[in-house]
Amino acid sequence: MSSSPTSFFDTVCKNFDKAAAFTGHPQGLLDQIKACNSVYQFMFPVQTDEGYDVISAWRVEHSQHKLPTKGGIRFSENVNEDEVKALAALMTYKCAIVDVPFGGAKGAVKINPAKYTLEELQRITRRYTAELVKKNFIGPGIDVPAPDYGTGPREMAWIVDTYQALNPSSIDAAACVTGKPVSQGGIRGRKEATGRGVFYAIREVCSVAEDMKALGLSTGLDGKRVIVQGLGNVGYHAAKFIQEGGGIIVGLAEYEGAIYNPKGLDLEAVIKHRKETRSIRNFPGATTLDSNRAALEMECDILVPAALENQLTEENAPRIKARIIAEGANGPTTAEAEDILLKKGIMIIPDMYANAGGVTVSYFEWLKNLQHVRMGRMGRRFTERSMGQVIDVIEKATGKKITDQQKALLVRGPDEEDLVNSGLEDTMILAYHEIRSIWKQTKGIDLRTAAFISAVNKIATSYIELGIFP
Ligand code: GLU
Repeated sequence: MSSSPTSFFDTVCKNFDKAAAFTGHPQGLLDQIKACNSVYQFMFPVQTDEGYDVISAWRVEHSQHKLPTKGGIRFSENVNEDEVKALAALMTYKCAIVDVPFGGAKGAVKINPAKYTLEELQRITRRYTAELVKKNFIGPGIDVPAPDYGTGPREMAWIVDTYQALNPSSIDAAACVTGKPVSQGGIRGRKEATGRGVFYAIREVCSVAEDMKALGLSTGLDGKRVIVQGLGNVGYHAAKFIQEGGGIIVGLAEYEGAIYNPKGLDLEAVIKHRKETRSIRNFPGATTLDSNRAALEMECDILVPAALENQLTEENAPRIKARIIAEGANGPTTAEAEDILLKKGIMIIPDMYANAGGVTVSYFEWLKNLQHVRMGRMGRRFTERSMGQVIDVIEKATGKKITDQQKALLVRGPDEEDLVNSGLEDTMILAYHEIRSIWKQTKGIDLRTAAFISAVNKIATSYIELGIFP
C-alpha cells in the first residue's frame, strides 16, 4: 500500500528527520537507518465453519543493524502495511534507546480475532508462523516476534510449538519468540513489563524537580492525578503500578466509554465492576462519559494513552488539560497534535521510550532461553547463605540480635522476578537520563526529538563500526 502524506510511517519518518538534522551524520547513512529493510506481505487461506477465508499478513524487518530483529505480532482488522512499517521502525528506535541489542520488526495478521473460534485462531497463528519459517522471517538469531495488540502468551505458545515442529534439532528454538507462558519458557514479569515500564518512566520524569517546576507541578508521583486510556495489558498494569506508586487514578477509558472521579477510582474495584457488568460505565461514585475519547480531555496531571495510535489529534489536542502525556501505546499522538500540545507547554514522554519495558523484558526472556536456565537459579541460595553469615558475624561482634523478620528481609536472595524487575527499572532510569541530557543540551527540542537523536546516534555508530558506512 502506498503511504498517504499523513500516514503513520510518514509521521515516524518526519520525527526521524527532525531529529536527524541535529546529528550531523551523512545523508546516505541517515537514509539507510530510516528505510524499512524487508517487507514481507503474504496471504494464506484458513478453513472456517463457513468455508475459507483468505487472510492478509505481514512481517516487516525495519533494521538489521543488530540481529535478531524484534517486535510484536498484531491481530487486528484495521492493520495495513503502512502501519506495520511504522511500528517496525519504532521498534528499531525503541531497542536502541533502551540498549536492547536488536533491530526492529513488526508483524500483523489482518483479522478480527473475536470473529474466530479458538481452533481457527490457532490454525491462523500456526499457518502464519509456518509462512515465516518458509521465508526465514523467524528464528532465535533472525527475527523474534512477541505479543502486541490482539495477541498474548497463548499465541506465542502456538508459535514456539510450530517453530519447534519445523526445526526439531534446534536446541535454541524456545528463543524464536518471547512473551510465552512461563511454563513454556517465558519469563516472570514479562506480562506486566510494558505497564511497569510506563510507571518507571513516569516516576523518573516526575522525580526531576527542575522539570516539574517548569510544568507547575510538585516533585514526585505522589498525589498526581492520572487518566489512563485502555485497560488492556499495558493500560491495566500501568494504572496498577501508578496507583501503587502514589498516583491517583481519576479517569479510565475503554472502548465502551469512560469514567471519571476527581477524588480517585479504585482500579481493582473498577475491574471487578467491568467483569460483572461487562462495561466500565456506571461505576458507583464516578461520572460516566459517553466516549472513551472524552476522558482524554478531562482535568488531570498525567494522561496515559495506552490503547491505539492516533488518539490525540489536531481536533482534540487544543482541549487536553494534562501537563504530562506518557505514551503507553505506540503512536497515540499525530504530528499535528504534537505541535499543538508542545505549544501548550505539555511534556510528552514518547512511546519509543515510555513503552520500551515490554521489549526490554523480552530481551531478558530471550537471554533466559539461550542460557537454558532460569535467572536466579544458580545464585539465590548462595546469596542468602552469604548474607546470613555476614549477619552472624555482625551479631557476634556487636552482641546484639536482630529479629527474625529483619533477618528474613536482609538475607533474601533475588528470584527471577526480582532480577527482571530490577533490570527493567535500571534500564528505564538510565535511558531516561540519557534522553533528558540530550534534551537539555540541545536548544529548542522536545523529548521525542531527544529520544530519536539518542537512537539515531547509537544505530549510526553500529553501522560505522561494522564498516558499512565510513
Ligand atoms: N509489542 C511490544 C512493543 O511494541 C513488544 C515487542 C517485543 O517484546 O518484542 O514494544
